[in-house]
Amino acid sequence: MSDNIEKIRHSLSHLMTMAVLEVYPKAGLGVGPTIENGFYQDYDLPAEALAKAGLPKIEQRMKELIKEDIKFEQHDMTFAKALAFYKKDKYKTELIKDLKKKGDLLAQAGKKVSFYKSGKFDNLCAGPHVKSTKEINPNAFKLTKIAGAYWKGSEKNKMLTRIYGVAFGTEKELQDYLKQQEEAEKRDHRKLGEKLDLFIFSDLVGPGLPMYTFKGVAILDELKKYVNELQGAIGYQEVQTPNMNRAELFKISGHYEKYKDDMFFVRSHYTKEEYFLKPMNCPQHTQIYAAKPRSYKDLPIRIADFAMLYRDEKTGELSGLARLRGFRQDDGHCFCREDQIKNEFNSVLSIVEKAMKTFGMNYKIRLSLWDPKQPEKYLGDKKIWEKSQKLLEEILIENKIEYFKAVGEAAIYGPKMDLICQDSLGREWQLSTIQLDFIMPGRFGLVYADSDGKEKTPVMIHRAIIGSPERFFGILIEHYAGAFPVWLAPVQTAVLPISEKHFEYAKKVRNQLRDDNGIRAQIWGEENETLSKKIREAEMQKIPYLLIVGDKEAIAGTVSCRERGKGDLGAMPLKKFIEKISERIRKRQ
Ligand SMILES: [Zn+2]
Ligand SMILES: [Zn+2]
Repeated sequence: MSDNIEKIRHSLSHLMTMAVLEVYPKAGLGVGPTIENGFYQDYDLPAEALAKAGLPKIEQRMKELIKEDIKFEQHDMTFAKALAFYKKDKYKTELIKDLKKKGDLLAQAGKKVSFYKSGKFDNLCAGPHVKSTKEINPNAFKLTKIAGAYWKGSEKNKMLTRIYGVAFGTEKELQDYLKQQEEAEKRDHRKLGEKLDLFIFSDLVGPGLPMYTFKGVAILDELKKYVNELQGAIGYQEVQTPNMNRAELFKISGHYEKYKDDMFFVRSHYTKEEYFLKPMNCPQHTQIYAAKPRSYKDLPIRIADFAMLYRDEKTGELSGLARLRGFRQDDGHCFCREDQIKNEFNSVLSIVEKAMKTFGMNYKIRLSLWDPKQPEKYLGDKKIWEKSQKLLEEILIENKIEYFKAVGEAAIYGPKMDLICQDSLGREWQLSTIQLDFIMPGRFGLVYADSDGKEKTPVMIHRAIIGSPERFFGILIEHYAGAFPVWLAPVQTAVLPISEKHFEYAKKVRNQLRDDNGIRAQIWGEENETLSKKIREAEMQKIPYLLIVGDKEAIAGTVSCRERGKGDLGAMPLKKFIEKISERIRKRQ
């Protein structure tokens, strides 16, 4: 994305504020950054004020402002002046005070803050902005929605009104984006999840803690089975570990210091020891390694785990299955010698490739590096970081894998390869990750006896394939628009008796599918429902195969088969249908 579009998006948020202030001059001003595809701005103002004006009116006013060729001009103000300027706006006042405390760049040497003036509107802002509204295409932006947002993201604070907008370089880009959004809305996994009865949330259970129905579990189980098959083939063995552990473990791993506020705290009634619900499995897996003496011949040791993980996300940031407080990961750890790193990465990359092919997704790799300007954010010294980053890049080059670098995206203990997949709507999601870690094994004192008899520290590779199965489940719902391929479909076949008297034969068919062949089959519909109603409802549930059975079928031992997306396939012997569907399931189609 070019810098200019960022400037345009941010400038539009100033223009939006100008338009909002015309409607309600006393509005308090929260933050207003650019985001992916657009921008937002938070306002403290009565909901009626906005409801009365309406987004289209504000948008119209912004278009007029754009045509006025308004210049954006930067100037500085002393803290004292800035505070006086905003004496009626407690939000800006707080922001300025925060800036002073932080000694932010914006607050040069703790004395001045930066402002941008556009027309009569002057705004605390670090920029950058377009030089003039001339640079903005008035037909390439749109205000999209109003939402509530807590001041500074904390539920303890007041809920402000946030207006979102999107902006692009051209009108066509805007139209394409809006079309994609419309399609995405139809596929929204939260809506489809409810419609297809896959998972539920309950206020009493808590936000970000979904419960999966038997249908949701069928899909999650298939994903787990598939991942185990893939990782089993490259030597990973599944283990089981507890959901919580002593704080001590995280003190050694470094998570206590860097990550404590993101973990749920648990306390025993009987001891004063601190426990935490684990947000990741890595520290526990070091203890599996440490349980026995290890020799160079034992390595690599590869462990996989699907334990529940808990992270104390802010409730405002939770979103369907995309952001959860409780979830699993297809988490794996490999302890190996340095000379084995390349092989290990190569084999993980090979199963990632297979998995993405199965799901019909393209992907690319983000090589996530540390930020050398902020070494305090990471564990370990510069030499280790440079060495490990170079190694990962070599692996990507040798495998001829397309990648791009992202400075500052590394894990605290090492660089990583993040696999960014593209769904059927062209949206990108970060799924899998393969991370190199030269630090944690040392912190836990892990060793192996090398061929020369000396003790050495193994290297640790953290990796996932689909990432969190729950989050991936959400992505898949939208990717497939709820029409799961046969191998994943929670109900693979519905058996529809034409009338009451065909229930017996329907049961026979169902049992043969389900009990003898492990196919998820269900008898569909109530006894007194018409066949057309049964078909309609089964189709709404996006079941891949419907088998209609009546007198003819019962006598001949056949089924009349309808395939999702293909329609009527006609009658076929049940045995033939079982062969057909079993093959598709086996091939994961
Ligand atoms: Zn600005
Ligand atoms: Zn890990």
